[in-house]
Amino acid sequence: MKNYTLQDLQKDFPNDDVCLETIFQARYGDLKFCPHCGAETKFYRLRNKKAYGCKQPHCGFTLSPTANMIFDHSPTPLTKWFYALYLFSVSKNGVSAMELQRHLGVTYKCAWRICNQIRLLMQQKSNQLSGIVEIDETYIGGRRKGNEGKFDNKTAVIGMVEKQKGSGQVKAIATKRADATVALPFIRAMAKHGSEIQSDESTIYYRVKREYIHRYINHSKEEYSKDGISTNTIEGFWSQMKRSIDGTYHCVSPKYLQLYVNEFAYRYNLRQQPIAPSLLELASLKQVK
Ligand SMILES: [Zn+2]
Repeated sequence: MKNYTLQDLQKDFPNDDVCLETIFQARYGDLKFCPHCGAETKFYRLRNKKAYGCKQPHCGFTLSPTANMIFDHSPTPLTKWFYALYLFSVSKNGVSAMELQRHLGVTYKCAWRICNQIRLLMQQKSNQLSGIVEIDETYIGGRRKGNEGKFDNKTAVIGMVEKQKGSGQVKAIATKRADATVALPFIRAMAKHGSEIQSDESTIYYRVKREYIHRYINHSKEEYSKDGISTNTIEGFWSQMKRSIDGTYHCVSPKYLQLYVNEFAYRYNLRQQPIAPSLLELASLKQVK
């Protein structure tokens, strides 16, 4: 399948009217009856407003296609929003506010806000993983102190990934502490009962065996793959995520780490799909509260 290029984007969405019409069609295209007067009706674009009006005489009802969406109340043109969504869709390593500021010609503050709004679209779904599921934890920011595996003022991320090649899905959460009190509820919520959980020898996962099939390898004995047990897939996800954070974002405050983790999980989970305006679709369909 052909990649969706910047030229395609500019052809499909040449101006704000087209962007707005696309959003209107996606959200209200099949609306036959006016929610206000109840009559069968059509909606027409109101001149000089980002809104559509009911065609019934004397009704006066108007619809704002961008209500409750990431673009809502934004003075930034929709073409710029769509361009930003496009950049997030095609980028492998994420898009920094600085980069977006350059591309869009907006202020840094505006670019930063757009980035965070777009990340809100990339929330992880609540569907559960199944089959063989690898679990592991990693730390973002700062350095390890001593040999005891203690980390100070860093944020931990716990992640699980389905082992199968190609289509395996990932789930990950940022957390202050990576311990059993966080890991176990995470596993229960995100891995189907009956899944096989694979980990390293970390005591965080020790109690998993009470509820799931649990097999582990002993990293401290330099075992990395044994009898089909490994955590290589999730470690691959960590290294991609860390490269991106180092390269694109440089540092991420703990407050926003979950948003970035969601972004990388989103990208990983869609990696098999051709580069398509998946975020554009999302943006025009999904409301953000
Ligand atoms: Zn009406």
